[in-house]
Amino acid sequence: MFDYIMTDEQKQLRDEARAFTKWVPRELILDMDAEKIQFPHDYLREAGRRNLLGIRLPKGYGGRGLSWVDDAIVAEEIGVASYSLACLWGVGADIVCEAIIEFGCEELKQKVVVPLLKGETFAAEGLTEPRGGSDFFGATTYAKKDGDDWIINGQKRFIVGAEGADWFLVYAVTDPDAPPHKRMTAFIVPRTDGVETRYIYGLMGVRGGGAGRLLLRDVRVPERYALNGINGGYDVFVHMMIPERLGTAAMTIGSVRPAVEIATRYSAKRKAFGLPIQSFQAVGFKVADCALLLDAARSMVYSTCLAVDSKKVHPGRIRRMVSQSKKFVTESAWEIANKCMQVVGGIGYTNVYPLERIVRDIRLSMIWVGSNEIMQLIIQNEWYKEYFKVLSKEAVRDVEQDAVNAGEVEEKVYE
Ligand SMILES: Cc1cc2nc3c(=O)[nH]c(=O)nc-3n(C[C@H](O)[C@H](O)[C@H](O)COP(=O)(O)OP(=O)(O)OC[C@H]3O[C@@H](n4cnc5c(N)ncnc54)[C@H](O)[C@@H]3O)c2cc1C
Repeated sequence: MFDYIMTDEQKQLRDEARAFTKWVPRELILDMDAEKIQFPHDYLREAGRRNLLGIRLPKGYGGRGLSWVDDAIVAEEIGVASYSLACLWGVGADIVCEAIIEFGCEELKQKVVVPLLKGETFAAEGLTEPRGGSDFFGATTYAKKDGDDWIINGQKRFIVGAEGADWFLVYAVTDPDAPPHKRMTAFIVPRTDGVETRYIYGLMGVRGGGAGRLLLRDVRVPERYALNGINGGYDVFVHMMIPERLGTAAMTIGSVRPAVEIATRYSAKRKAFGLPIQSFQAVGFKVADCALLLDAARSMVYSTCLAVDSKKVHPGRIRRMVSQSKKFVTESAWEIANKCMQVVGGIGYTNVYPLERIVRDIRLSMIWVGSNEIMQLIIQNEWYKEYFKVLSKEAVRDVEQDAVNAGEVEEKVYE
């Protein structure tokens, strides 16, 4: 985030996050990428020990009780070490725990949130199914009532942190005959009888973060573990799209930042035709574009965080801003990573520099937590709604009349 708009407390928080990121052992990053490690327990334990999990969650449950702006400041720094670590950092604390804090019972807050924020237990979130992630409401995982409990059956896939998780946030259909927004329930499921995880994906990047298949076979869960009650999953889903997508945007900035730093240093030192390659505009302009995109990405994330923090902005506008941030930041990050590799040339394509890992890792950002095509759908829907309900009624100049033949109404044909 921009240092010139940070308070002293925020700079201190950023420096705490930076110190944690500097602590991360190099071997951990390399071993995760080589999949010698499938879940970095020690990393999350250390994050908990440093009280760097749950930045926005209440202090009473072990969080820091801070704002979205603060969270984004930390998320950017967390992202620097590796995208895989950042995903895990966000999924358990920022997503599963926030869902429980907002919609769960006190028992879950004590059993899941308190130990998780200390780094003692781990959690994952299961929305995506083998049959599809974008069509979330078409889920086939279902739960049936049995006395005071619900029995869940189904499968989820690509679940970050599944391998190490003690708890899972799982969406299941509980009323198949109801319309989409009334048929789903968000359950908190312990790793218990009938829960199996399989670390099976040969991922292109973001490796070693426990991303796996989650199989649920006759898993018994008490009704009080349903967040927001039975059939109340829609509100949980809608609420959680803020931390999923805004959190992703913030950490993606951090994960691609090192690429720009590497390309900047390299282009200042590397010579061709007797000159530092930075002095060739084709090279220097690429680095300039990367710096521009990084700052534009930060500006967007920062203003969206302020909008969410204010609690005064219409939910539709928030949905649009969050989706815009996720789409713009992740597409910028991809362009940045690609340009930085080009600047560094052939050696950038090897494992002498971590650029090739950053390129592989960053590619995920445009796909997960809702693909960028889904972001576009939301932006389109919310823009049209907001324009016709609000913006078109504002007292602004009607520029459509500022054309020579604006009065030729018979030329303004719409059908
Ligand atoms: C490494 C990794 C980690 C992940 N972690 C998690 C996790 O922790 N938890 C979790 O629940 N999920 C996770 N996911 C799943 C991820 O969120 C989904 O892959 C993503 O939402 C897309 O779903 P899909 O892969 O089923 O693609 P599909 O939904 O089948 O989509 C395929 C393509 O069609 C496009 N498309 C689909 N519908 C439309 C439409 N209406 N309009 C325009 N285009 C459309 C999509 O944008 C995409 O390009 C992870 C995925 C990966 C690869």
